[in-house]
Amino acid sequence: MPQPVRLLNTLSRRLEEFQELEAGRVRLYTCGPTVYDFAHIGNLRTFLFEDVLRRTLTAFGYTVTQVMNLTDIDDKTIRGANAQGVSLREYTDRYVQAFFEDLAALGVERAEHYPRATEYVPQMIELVQRLQAKGHTYALEGSTYFRLATFPGYGKLSGVRLDEVKPGARVDADEYEKEDVRDFVLWKAHRPGEPFWDSPFGPGRPGWHLECSAMAMSLLGESIDIHCGGVDNIFPHHENEIAQSEAATGVPFARFWLHAEHLVVEGQKMAKSLGNFYTLRDLVAKGWDPQAIRYLLVSVPYRQKLNFTFEGLRGAAAALERIGNTVRRVAHTPVASGEGSLTLQEVEAAAVEFDAALADDLNTARALAALHTLLTRANQALDQNGIAAPVRARLEWFLDRVHRVLGVVPAVPAAPLEEDVEALIAARAAARASRDFARADAIRNELAQRGIVLEDTPHGTVWHRRS
Ligand code: AMP
Ligand code: ZN
Repeated sequence: MPQPVRLLNTLSRRLEEFQELEAGRVRLYTCGPTVYDFAHIGNLRTFLFEDVLRRTLTAFGYTVTQVMNLTDIDDKTIRGANAQGVSLREYTDRYVQAFFEDLAALGVERAEHYPRATEYVPQMIELVQRLQAKGHTYALEGSTYFRLATFPGYGKLSGVRLDEVKPGARVDADEYEKEDVRDFVLWKAHRPGEPFWDSPFGPGRPGWHLECSAMAMSLLGESIDIHCGGVDNIFPHHENEIAQSEAATGVPFARFWLHAEHLVVEGQKMAKSLGNFYTLRDLVAKGWDPQAIRYLLVSVPYRQKLNFTFEGLRGAAAALERIGNTVRRVAHTPVASGEGSLTLQEVEAAAVEFDAALADDLNTARALAALHTLLTRANQALDQNGIAAPVRARLEWFLDRVHRVLGVVPAVPAAPLEEDVEALIAARAAARASRDFARADAIRNELAQRGIVLEDTPHGTVWHRRS
């Protein structure tokens, strides 16, 4: 039985206990990047929230099947490819590759599927045909539109009102504002200079919203457990996905809708169009560690806005360094021979609090606080009587769990190598021979810190690990 987790469902506007459709399994659809440019760290915040969601569900005992689409055909990718005079595929390939590099640098776990929209056009056409057969569409000047008035549930996610829609008003753009609640385009008529596919509705290409519905249903089924994106996806993108999918199938499209708040800069959404953005590459080129960027982006609970500042990034780097130092110190300090100064109960309490924080709509700030409190105690214990073996084993188990869920525990370098110790012993002997006793003592102390005890015998220096 998986552990329970409560999630704030945008659809009900309430914190609900997560209930999966099929025991132990989670079908997760996460709207992916539009591959027309490098992702900025605002986009990456949303993808990291989805990574933490996925890792939490896995740690809690679910088997997750995640789909993240790659939007390789929409208004923006076509514009970009045409501006550079290259094919859509050549243009988007670059950014698909860059996207995967970014995910790897940030330690994001791979989803099970990364469908490209251009590879699911037959499924998109089929979905339009289903909608057409049920009377939800109309054609005009070669394009096919979804008639909002045929779907009474329109607005249930975003709160827009159907009775305010001007009958017959249409929108062709992929992105538009709430003031423009109108019949939206499913299939866009072919325009010169644009890639197109033949279809029963004439040559053209899919609209952005249609793409996600078709890929989600093809890979995960008509009803899925969780659908995610950033808050800007709520309207019109997700509202339109619900309309198309549910009008076609008659069953609920997704049970839970989760949306990450924006990364903001001086109060404004980080966005390409505003020019106030950083890509991961920009920050790495300035010398920032991707793991510190990950720490910063996951440290604020996803339902809160995250204000990006370099001061915040410095704070994240410092927090990460503190975790790394403590983890190394714990690993390389010999265990206490007695009871030590950290109790098993303290470690258990931190582990319980960590899970409770995540079960509370992924409260990552609270989860990290549990980690830091325990690390403070571990440092105090190491300054006193140390940490006993069973407590250390449990502490290491906890650190591993934290890392599996949040990905913010730096790896501990392997215990000192034998050759390394032998080399230091030789250096100490050389220092003693030249009467540099300060250097010789420094080497002995360094080894002692790593749990290596030296003993000078008539046959030379021997060493052992302190038990
Ligand atoms: P796009 O590549 O524009 O389709 O965006 C990819 C994802 O990033 C979507 O889920 C957006 O909702 C999300 N997103 C865009 N801007 C931001 C931002 N400033 N903060 C957080 N998420 C964002
Ligand atoms: Zn989508």
